[in-house]
Formats: sequence, structure tokens, C-alpha cells
Amino acid sequence: MQKIVFNRLKCSGCGVCIQRAPNVWNYNSTDGKADLMDAEFKKDSYFRMVWPDERKVMKEIESTCPTHAIQLFK
Ligand code: SF4
Repeated sequence: MQKIVFNRLKCSGCGVCIQRAPNVWNYNSTDGKADLMDAEFKKDSYFRMVWPDERKVMKEIESTCPTHAIQLFK
């Protein structure tokens, strides 16, 4: 199963990930950045597993995030 890693410090709050997968990403009105739902925090990043049915959209979000804040790993 793949893992998604989100470096929130890099997030500009553009909203692309939130629009594309609102069941996974949330808008945080406190600082205007994205939140990765159901994520754990470790070593300056948030991470969670990617379910098989989310893989395609997560890959798309990884490649379209303008600040490269999102990475997928096997
Ligand atoms: S696409 Fe990237 S920069 Fe834009 S809100 Fe999502 S994580 Fe932040």
C-alpha cells in the first residue's frame, strides 16, 4: 500500500488538493492552508496510507500541487 506524505510548511493554500479530493483534504481557516485528514504527524510531515481507490487521484494531486508539498511512496 502506498503512503502519502504532506509537508505542510510548503503548502501555499492554493486549494487544488481540496477541490480534487475533499474527502481527504480540508481547508484550515486558521492559517489558510490544507489539512490532510486522518493523518499522523512525524518528522515535520503528516502522513497516512493511501487506499487503492484513492491512488489515482492522489497521484494526480501529487503532480499538480504547485509547491511540491505532497509526495507518494510505496
Ligand atoms: S495543492 Fe499543495 S499547495 Fe495547494 S493547498 Fe494542496 S498541499 Fe497546499
